[in-house]
Amino acid sequence: MTVSEWIHIEKDQKHIVREKLKAQAVRRSQWWKNKISQGICYYCQKTFLPHELTMDHVVPLARGGRSTRGNIVPCCKACNNKKRYLTPAEIVLNKLKQQDTAEHFGK
Ligand SMILES: [Zn+2]
Repeated sequence: MTVSEWIHIEKDQKHIVREKLKAQAVRRSQWWKNKISQGICYYCQKTFLPHELTMDHVVPLARGGRSTRGNIVPCCKACNNKKRYLTPAEIVLNKLKQQDTAEHFGK
């Protein structure tokens, strides 16, 4: 049994295609340009240049997330790589772990 069998990627393919198209439209919008010009990664809260930020879905499309403004956030490449297919609950756990580490090392 492979991973793709139990998360039903095939079944959700249409949903993903549709939401990806929506995400492209959002990427061209003034709303998104304002977001990335602020330059703050949603996950690590560090500041980046606009071109260093990528668009990320808080709830991944593969997990049923949608391309709405509430679900789209700017994300740096490092966080994007770390995140992948985690759910928000898993992200929160990871964040708590990171904060522990940061406090331990005095930032
Ligand atoms: Zn980040």
